[in-house]
Amino acid sequence: MPLLLPHLRRNAAAYGALLVGLLITGVAVLHVGRGIEERRTHRFEEAVRYGTLGMQQRMDTYQAMLLGTRGLFSSSQLVERSEFHAYVESLELRRRYPGIQGIGFAQWLRPEERQSHVAEIRAEGLSEYHLWPEGERPEYTAIVFLEPQDARNRRALGFDMFSEPTRQEAMRRAMETGLAAASGRVRLVQEDVPGSTETQAGFLIYVPVYHGGVLVPPERRREQMRGFVYAPFRMGDLVEGLRFPGFQNTIDLDIHDGTKTSDENLLFSSRRAGEAAVPGMRQEVVLEVAGRPWTLVFTAREAFVASNSSGQLVTVAISGVLVALLLFFITRSQVNARTAAEAASVEQQRLASEARAAVQVRDDFLGVAAHELRTPLTSLKLQLQLLYRQLRQGVEVDPGRVQRAVDACERQTTRLSQLVDSLLDVSRLASGRLELRLEALELDEVVRELARRFETEAQMAGVRLTVDAPRPIPGRWDRLRLEQVLTNLVANALKYGQGAPVDLRVRDEGEYARVEVEDRGIGIDPEDARRIFDRFERAVSSRHYGGLGLGLFISRQLVEALGGRISVESRPGQGSTFIVLLPRVTPSPKAHAAPTPPETPRTPLH
Ligand code: ADP
Repeated sequence: MPLLLPHLRRNAAAYGALLVGLLITGVAVLHVGRGIEERRTHRFEEAVRYGTLGMQQRMDTYQAMLLGTRGLFSSSQLVERSEFHAYVESLELRRRYPGIQGIGFAQWLRPEERQSHVAEIRAEGLSEYHLWPEGERPEYTAIVFLEPQDARNRRALGFDMFSEPTRQEAMRRAMETGLAAASGRVRLVQEDVPGSTETQAGFLIYVPVYHGGVLVPPERRREQMRGFVYAPFRMGDLVEGLRFPGFQNTIDLDIHDGTKTSDENLLFSSRRAGEAAVPGMRQEVVLEVAGRPWTLVFTAREAFVASNSSGQLVTVAISGVLVALLLFFITRSQVNARTAAEAASVEQQRLASEARAAVQVRDDFLGVAAHELRTPLTSLKLQLQLLYRQLRQGVEVDPGRVQRAVDACERQTTRLSQLVDSLLDVSRLASGRLELRLEALELDEVVRELARRFETEAQMAGVRLTVDAPRPIPGRWDRLRLEQVLTNLVANALKYGQGAPVDLRVRDEGEYARVEVEDRGIGIDPEDARRIFDRFERAVSSRHYGGLGLGLFISRQLVEALGGRISVESRPGQGSTFIVLLPRVTPSPKAHAAPTPPETPRTPLH
């Protein structure tokens, strides 16, 4: 959690872009989804429209054809069998009117006309012709023509359709209205062909033919009845030729006789067993077919939904998510690049300011060094000029004065060589070329000896210098470097001690030896206490105190090379105590246990 927050804050823009991208994708998916749904509904509705229209047109065409056939009868009192045959043949039923089983004519007969009728037809050569079913009925009809004359149709000749209630209902309606009338669902006589396995639901359309033409007033229609032009239809064959988008493929059609959609009145169904309809994708249309309502039920299969949808939606969703992720990574890399650039520029600024500070320190140092070198040089030059003038005047030279002048010159050259030495030391330390020469020493002795060397200088400055070293402290150290460190500390104590007493203490601390140099002078501000051990660092103004700011730096390097530590405790205005801790045996790998060369011990750097 604590790591998550900064991560989120840093990448807020990238996550923002991701969020916006995902939101847009979500909206697009919703939108496209709705579009797909609308398009699907639209396509379904279109299929329903085309299907209904196709069915309607088909039925209208059949009715028109039947009405045309009626014309054949209206125009002549007697229609010959051959004439009817030729007429139907000219219609090209099979090709132009698929689904229709044939066209026929059923003659209207009163009971007393039966016998003469049968005799008449038999006389035409149809010796087996008879009126069926047998039985006494008030009215009869008899199929006399039925084209084309195939096995199925031939079976139907002589059949009294009026004897069967479903057919009778349609025939009555046709007779009474004078219009085409469709029957309810029937099993066609043609279906009873032996050996035929496929049975289909059927229906018939009747067109009434009256004696004396079409315009017969309703009350005289029964007595003027001549017969019916009719056509039987096999439902499956009829619908087979129907065309509309998706039909039998992704969209199914059920046709029911009447306005109720039950199995009993099902005329046709294209649904395959086990194929489920998509819920919500169902539409009912009621169609009027020759005075009878039919209910067309359109349903969509799963395949219809699949063919109209998801691929597109998945593509939109996937591409949306990909674009959002791309946006995220681009934004994040930009943010990262900017952060890195900012960090780099901060680092650059830091380096630049460090470089400026270093240049400043160097310039300051050069100024100080020039001043420090010039002081002894000027004094040397003055002494030499004085000596030269005395020698040129030819007067007798006072040996005492010469002695003093030479002493002064000697002091200044020593001072100069010390300055140069300390500069060389710094460069040696910087390049790591410092070499230690370890030897067995007694630290208390070294400190006492050093104090003796400072006696004159201390006396001249009116300073009391004491050494407190109660016990001998033996160890292995580099004498020269040790003296160099202590010399710097004592010289500083005299320089910054304001004439007050300076105490040197040496203590044994087991593995370590401890040397303290305490003065009661100007002291050091705590803020400066760490800095003064660095190169060129000073905590006083060069106007009041000369110096290069190198003594403590060199001392610290030497003490650390000997494996020890140097520190200071001080209060401004009350004095300072410099503490050096040295291991009794120097562990430095650089150490060389070589005998000390006969070299003059160094005097302070200042
Ligand atoms: P220098 O004395 O040449 O300036 P050092 O490296 O010896 O260089 O000392 C660095 C600084 O530490 C001095 O400039 C001074 O400000 C401070 N300093 C050193 N010793 C003392 C001391 N005993 N009392 C007060 N200040 C001191």
